[in-house]
Amino acid sequence: MTKSTSAGTLAPGFNSLGLDDRLLQSLTTLGYEEPTPVQREAIPMLISGVDVLGQAATGTGKTAAFALPILQSLATNERMREPMALILVPTRELAMQVAEAVHKYGKPLGAVALPIYGGAPIETQLRALKRGVDIVVATPGRALDHIRRKTLKLGGLKIVVLDEADEMLDMGFAEDLEAILEATPSERQTALFSATMAPKVSAIAAKYLRHPKTIRIAVDVKVSGVAPKVRQVAYIVPRAHKMAALGRVLDIEQPTSAMVFCRTRTEVDALTETLNASGYRAAALHGGLNQQQRDRVMKAFRANTTDLLVATDVAARGIDVEHVSHVVNYDVPSAPDSYVHRIGRTGRAGREGVAITLAEPREHRMLRNIESATKQKITISAVPTVADLRTRRLEATRANLREAIVAGDLEAMRGVVESLASEFDVMDVAAAAVKLVVARESGEGDQREIPTAPTRTSAAARPMSGPRYSPKERAERAERAERPDRAERVMRSERPDRPERPARPATKRPRVTSTQEMVRLFIGGGRKLKIRPGDIVGAIANEMNIAGEAIGAIEILDRHSLVDVPSTIADEVVTVLRGTTIKGKKLLVRRDLASQPRK
Ligand code: AMP
Repeated sequence: MTKSTSAGTLAPGFNSLGLDDRLLQSLTTLGYEEPTPVQREAIPMLISGVDVLGQAATGTGKTAAFALPILQSLATNERMREPMALILVPTRELAMQVAEAVHKYGKPLGAVALPIYGGAPIETQLRALKRGVDIVVATPGRALDHIRRKTLKLGGLKIVVLDEADEMLDMGFAEDLEAILEATPSERQTALFSATMAPKVSAIAAKYLRHPKTIRIAVDVKVSGVAPKVRQVAYIVPRAHKMAALGRVLDIEQPTSAMVFCRTRTEVDALTETLNASGYRAAALHGGLNQQQRDRVMKAFRANTTDLLVATDVAARGIDVEHVSHVVNYDVPSAPDSYVHRIGRTGRAGREGVAITLAEPREHRMLRNIESATKQKITISAVPTVADLRTRRLEATRANLREAIVAGDLEAMRGVVESLASEFDVMDVAAAAVKLVVARESGEGDQREIPTAPTRTSAAARPMSGPRYSPKERAERAERAERPDRAERVMRSERPDRPERPARPATKRPRVTSTQEMVRLFIGGGRKLKIRPGDIVGAIANEMNIAGEAIGAIEILDRHSLVDVPSTIADEVVTVLRGTTIKGKKLLVRRDLASQPRK
């Protein structure tokens, strides 16, 4: 059995990779319990200074695999005003995402990561570059533009990363990449990550990487042992709708006992809380629990007083439970063997089992990798609709009614039917009774459709080799990739040697600005408690002395409410609301990880 660690200890498994304590602490805070295969291999290699050629798709944890060694170098070397790392990515979305990840991991170091991509006003980027950034995450076109203007200085570069190299080449960025690499210091360290090793990728690797160490993840991992009786299904759902989709799937599938796997402790805790608040009986199992707590959780699960066990891979390893009807992957696991371990919990001893995976559109390719590794089909299904749910509820009610009729003992009820039968048709009386039962069983989310995510028109949905785009398509994609859909942001942590933003008038809190990133909070009370938006704004604004306008969208539902607040004050708002009452009641308040704030 895996030894449990107490909360706050350094992430087990990451300790041996040679990372600075502050970075390990970051990972613990994020709830990462152990490195993924690509991280286990790439991190020590990159820290040792060699070039790396890695075949790994999105979802394998490759961002941290190159970001952590970059941050390690930042932690151990003298800081300069010029960037020490350049990460090239195919699209603006990825630029923002990777910059955000670097910022998140490098927070305790005060690392400054700047995403740069085309279409956004160049002045903002110029100002940010001038102030000094440590790590630039850029699309090739805009990077080259800055290099030619001499606004992106490459003299201090220690590491260059080409992320999703196959995508960049498919999009027609080959020349730009070569021009950029030629302009970087020749003694730089280079890492190239790509989901496929098409000839074009190998050619650029051969030209610009020096004696690279190679890593190959996922596609040809030999794994076996998936029980043939396990039905494997995946739903492609946008992140913001995952929780709703999980609820819908659980309602349709009606598992007798299920394990739900998440990547991090933080996710496990948040999901468990949300599931419990939505009326499921869920318990969390992760490395932050002590042995006694784990034993208690397992006992309840075995005794069927908990229906859903929400767990990380690490915590679930070694536990033995016989009767799991469903395994749910709340995220696509980072490697096929982890998928196999997880779903091996169901379909035991010849029983039938169901393995359900919720994948974001960008994780589609990971599913294909798992399929080719396990040589088993994962059926992609549409998230059940409101109509599906209604049909399922009616079927269940019909079965229950049948049982009740067979069981008899209906004398007391017969009187009610008889009295109504003099006035109405018996068929209508029965139909109305069914309606009441179904309505009582329905939750507040049952009327909302969950959007089906269009699968990315990218590599994910395409065959893995051969020409993919016509030159025209390529040009269009490159153009789209460079166009921003959001204002550019500088990921900036508190850093003593850099000037802070100018102070705002004294009546308002200096940290709240209208353009700030928002975080959604969950409040455990809604319409049923007669809560109105004004009550929430009032509670926050009164307690914290901030302007009401700083608070974002508010949504009041039957049993809970959602409010968007600036991320910089989110924790404070949670603390304050937990310490106060709304409509005279103390309510559950926490970050809502199941949905994203509206932009
Ligand atoms: P990537 O493949 O880099 O896009 O990462 C996929 C997802 O896995 C991201 O949401 C990461 O935050 C998450 N992740 C990366 N490494 C780990 C880890 N060691 N443990 C848990 N989650 C991770």
